[in-house]
Amino acid sequence: MNVRDSEVISGLLDKARYKLTEDEAKADIIIYNTCSVRQHAEEKVWSEIGRVSKCQSVKVSGEKIIGIVGCMANNYREAIFEKAPAVDFVVGTADIGKLPGILKEIEKHKGGMLEKKIYETDADFREDEIYHTGFHLDKEHAFVVISEGCENFCSYCVVPYVRGKLRSRDYKDIRKEIKGDIDAGITKVTLLGQNVNAYKYEDVNFVGLIDLVNSVKGLKEFSFVTSHPKDTSIELFKAMADADKLKKYLHLPIQSGSDRILKAMNRGYTRKFYLELVDKYRTIVPNGALTTDIIVGFPGERDMDFQDTFDLVKDVEFDAGFIFKYSIRPHTQALRIPDDVPKEEKERRHALILELQKKISRKKNAKNS
Ligand code: SAH
Ligand code: SF4
Repeated sequence: MNVRDSEVISGLLDKARYKLTEDEAKADIIIYNTCSVRQHAEEKVWSEIGRVSKCQSVKVSGEKIIGIVGCMANNYREAIFEKAPAVDFVVGTADIGKLPGILKEIEKHKGGMLEKKIYETDADFREDEIYHTGFHLDKEHAFVVISEGCENFCSYCVVPYVRGKLRSRDYKDIRKEIKGDIDAGITKVTLLGQNVNAYKYEDVNFVGLIDLVNSVKGLKEFSFVTSHPKDTSIELFKAMADADKLKKYLHLPIQSGSDRILKAMNRGYTRKFYLELVDKYRTIVPNGALTTDIIVGFPGERDMDFQDTFDLVKDVEFDAGFIFKYSIRPHTQALRIPDDVPKEEKERRHALILELQKKISRKKNAKNS
């Protein structure tokens, strides 16, 4: 999602005649498109800003203009200016369409001192037009946002607080974007949403959208991420089996194999429900790939809870797994529960699952080759 947002920002600025440079020394303006999902990602941004700005507090002529855009803008708002005085503008996830105007405003002061900091984090939703700049890092593959935001409020997750309410884009506009991409030489697309299965625009749900995208002329292959187990249905699996251009790949984050922890995470399903879903998927979509996300060390996770996750990973045999150590996130419900699994224990559990998943992935790869 963040990669696509960076493309959208680049496309908007390219249209406004700004030139992208990979050479930091040449840049007049540096924009950090940020992610807040895990603490580690934010720490990297803070230290980068420190490095680039050398902590100057008053901007003088010729110094680089620095902007923080995306999740961290919504997460910390005006406090960013106190924590990183060198930052000149802060623009939220839904406000990125305003960036060309903001940079124009800044240009008025080019060569001189910026009189005030610019702060925009109020928009609830993005305008659909911003998705149509045709800027893609890959010449053949495009990411297509089908829905923004999330209202699931998993207790560890900051996304609903930084990306706002769920908004499904008009399927007609999604189709128009894909057709435009194909005209520009794209042959593959990935549909993006925090929970694609919750997609609903007028009478079209996600299964309907799959049908629609599958019928776009010139498209060779498409896929989607991410699916929330609680909204994943047999109808989806049937649509996956039927859609000839759809890659048989499902990313279905389990997060934990323990019912007690799943409840505390507010995930809305049980271990049994998840395992039955996997069985149905594998029956209806034979040879379909399956990947997952797991968080180890969620507050209150005991040895037996971790063992449940370990056993589940062993039994399901995912094709790949993304394993994360729990980190406290602002605004979230879990913030109120003591982060009681020691760092070393989180690391141990992380390494154990990682090692197990590596073995499984290797075994599966050998089988398929
Ligand atoms: N919308 C997607 C995931 C978005 S975040 C979904 O629900 O599956 C991507 C992954 O980051 C999550 O699946 C989760 O495993 C991880 N994650 C989110 N918040 C986290 C936190 N506070 N600590 C550690 N990992 C976290
Ligand atoms: Fe976060 Fe849960 Fe929404 Fe995914 S479904 S973005 S984990 S709140």
